[in-house]
Amino acid sequence: MHYYNVKDLVEEAEKRAVTIGRVVKEMEAENLEVPVEQVEERMLAQWLTMKESAEIGLSEPKKSMGGLIGGEGKKLNDYRLNNKTLAGQRMNKAVSRALAVAEVNASMGKIVAAPTAGSSGILPGVLLTVQEELNLDDRRIVDGLFTASGIGIIIAQKASISGAEGGCQAECGAAAAMAAAALVELAGGLPSQAGEACAIALKNVLGLICDPVAGLVEVPCAKRNALGASLALVSADMGLAGIKSVIPVDEVIVAMGEVGCSLPDSLRETAKGGLAATPTGRELAERFLGKF
Ligand code: SF4
Repeated sequence: MHYYNVKDLVEEAEKRAVTIGRVVKEMEAENLEVPVEQVEERMLAQWLTMKESAEIGLSEPKKSMGGLIGGEGKKLNDYRLNNKTLAGQRMNKAVSRALAVAEVNASMGKIVAAPTAGSSGILPGVLLTVQEELNLDDRRIVDGLFTASGIGIIIAQKASISGAEGGCQAECGAAAAMAAAALVELAGGLPSQAGEACAIALKNVLGLICDPVAGLVEVPCAKRNALGASLALVSADMGLAGIKSVIPVDEVIVAMGEVGCSLPDSLRETAKGGLAATPTGRELAERFLGKF
C-alpha cells in the first residue's frame, strides 16, 4: 500500500478518525509484512538517537570537520537561559537544538537523516521541545515521526529530498514541512490541519538553493536547520489556527520539484554558486582545500 498524495493520506486518516501517523505506521507494517509493534520499535530507536544527538550537541559541542561551525547551538541555548530571548523560550529551545544536531552531523557524530543528514536538526529540535513543553511520552513522539515520514515519502516521490537535485528547499524545506505536520498532530490538530501546515512551511522556502561553502555541509546548512525549526513551529501554529494554504499541499510539493529542476547546476550542491561563490566563501574553500 502506498500514498502518492498528502490529500489521500489526510482523507484516509479523517475517514477513520485517526492520525496521519497511525495510517503511515500501519502502511509501513503492511508493506514490510511485520507487526505494527516492530515498526514502532524501529522508529523508537531512531527517536532515541535523535534525542541523544541533541543532548550531545548542546553538552559537548565540537568544531566541524571543516572548522567553519561548532558551538553555536550551545551559545544560543546559553543566551536563552539568560532570559534575553526576543523570539521566546520555546522557539529558542527548538532552534538551539536544531543547530546543535546540525553541528553533530558536521563533526561526523551520529544523527538520524530526517530526511537527509544535512537537514537532520529540524525534527529533533522541534520534537524534543514539544515533548518537554506538552509533556508527551516517547510513544507519542514516535507517532509524530510516522506523520513526518509519511509526508517525507510523498515529497520524495512527487518532488525530491535531495539538495543536489532540488536545492535546499528539498532538504531543509522538506524537513520543516514534515516537522510542521507532525507538530500539528502532536498538539491535537486535525490531519487536514497537518496538511495545511506542511504546505505553508514548504511554500516559504520555494527556490531555496543549495550552496554549501567549500562543499561542506556546514555553512549555511546548520543555520538553515535552525531557521527550519522556527518555520516548522510557526507553520504548525498557522495550521492549528485553521489557516489554509490557497494552493493545495500536493500542488505545492509538485511546484517545489519543478522549481528544483529549473535551478541551474551551480545552485544544486556543486558549491559553485550562491554563498559558496562569494569572496569569503571562495577564500574559505581555498583555505579548507589547502589543509589536504
Ligand atoms: S545547503 Fe545544501 S548541503 Fe546544506 S543543508 Fe541545504 S541542501 Fe543540504
